[in-house]
Amino acid sequence: MPLFSVPKEVAVGAAMLGVAFATGMLAGFGTPKSSKSTIGKNSPLLQYILDHSLREHPILKKLRLLTADHPHGKMMVSCDQAQLMANLVKLIKAKKVIEIGVFTGYNTLNMALVLPDNGKVIACDINEDYAKIGKPLWKEAGVDHKIDLRIKPAIQTLDELLASGEAETFDFAFIDADKESYIEYYEKCLRLIKKGGIIAIDNILWGGRVLKPRKDDLAAQTIHQLNEKLLRDARINISILPMGDGVTLAFKL
Ligand code: SAM
Ligand code: CA
Repeated sequence: MPLFSVPKEVAVGAAMLGVAFATGMLAGFGTPKSSKSTIGKNSPLLQYILDHSLREHPILKKLRLLTADHPHGKMMVSCDQAQLMANLVKLIKAKKVIEIGVFTGYNTLNMALVLPDNGKVIACDINEDYAKIGKPLWKEAGVDHKIDLRIKPAIQTLDELLASGEAETFDFAFIDADKESYIEYYEKCLRLIKKGGIIAIDNILWGGRVLKPRKDDLAAQTIHQLNEKLLRDARINISILPMGDGVTLAFKL
């Protein structure tokens, strides 16, 4: 009996990667041939990964299960990806982090749980109704004092932080809101984080649509443009992880 059942977003992202393997999109990297060796939807391997890596705080798990039942539950970041971010936040001893796109606050709570008591998550969203779902659990976990929720367009919050002299004071940023603004979010976050800080950018594969972005798909166009830009950006080092719907880690030099 598995400890965790594969959550929706992991399954969606992994299913996409499964398709990528099956269609040879990732050929050249020892492409597995049999379905047993691909990490697809409901894959036993994906279940195995979660069973052997996920250590989820009980209140975080409660919020994940609550969010999974929401009609837009698929927007929640995957639990394995959230755990990676928590590990990075801990590793770099982050004190100040920014989250662009909070939704119900699963990852907000995830990061707040590993920040020191005087740490802060500046949590940006335009929809307070979503955040209201997670807020009681932030409190139950005893970390609500570390979360500064700002309900307004994230660009405005980032500009306010820059205007108030907070450039180069953040350690970590997670970009996961409207994809059309990703390039602006990246540029502003890069100014806000310190050297040695990390920016994690979600959905950089956009369900595979970055391979051939349609002219009328502004989100796919923007993400693809950002992926191209990051490859050549001398201000950072990068890694792309095929986790969930793809996540880029940009390390500020
Ligand atoms: N990071 C969240 C998590 O871990 O569960 C998921 C975020 S969800 C994919 C995207 C969120 O971005 C939504 O809650 C949406 O309201 C928010 N959003 C959309 N446009 C925005 C904007 N211009 N400024 C701030 N937030 C925005
Ligand atoms: Ca996302």
